[in-house]
Amino acid sequence: MSMPWQLKRGLEERRRSGRTTPRPIAEKTPSVDINRLKVPRDFKTYIAPNISFRYPQLVSMRIAWNVVHFQHRSLHRGVEGPIQIFGIKQIRTGLGGYFRHSFVCTCGRPVLKLYFLNARLACRRCQNLIHASQTCNKRTRAALQASRIANFLDNKSRLLRRTRERLQKRLGEKLMMAQGQLGTDARSFWD
Ligand SMILES: [Zn+2]
Repeated sequence: MSMPWQLKRGLEERRRSGRTTPRPIAEKTPSVDINRLKVPRDFKTYIAPNISFRYPQLVSMRIAWNVVHFQHRSLHRGVEGPIQIFGIKQIRTGLGGYFRHSFVCTCGRPVLKLYFLNARLACRRCQNLIHASQTCNKRTRAALQASRIANFLDNKSRLLRRTRERLQKRLGEKLMMAQGQLGTDARSFWD
């Protein structure tokens, strides 16, 4: 099957202009958060009932204490959706032998979230996603942070003196950064 002419022309145009598609934003990409799954604390394997109600991209999920199988929805009639298997790692919290969990992405990174993109699940880095906070440039970000600190100083009348001084110093930095008068490594001058 050949490529539709619209797609072909679009790709050629993009190659010529050097434009690449913007990286998707993690916060807007559907994901599975391990903290929202019930990781078994025994040695049985469980099948999550009605998983597609919560994750329409999936048809089934089998989960044990150390591994999870996700079966994706079928993309083609008569062909089963692909299955992805991820390890689950225990993270000790130091509180009476209690632990939290993380997925182990196929890249080896322990992560709390796996993102759905291009019909597969993978960590944020493997999916090449950026955080929403990374989308604005340094100057905008500094301005946002400055207004946040200014609000905080306005609202808290009884801040400890040292905290206030520290925040005021940082507010000064942020304002200067927002005005583009300060480089990125400004912090080392102030601390
Ligand atoms: Zn990964």
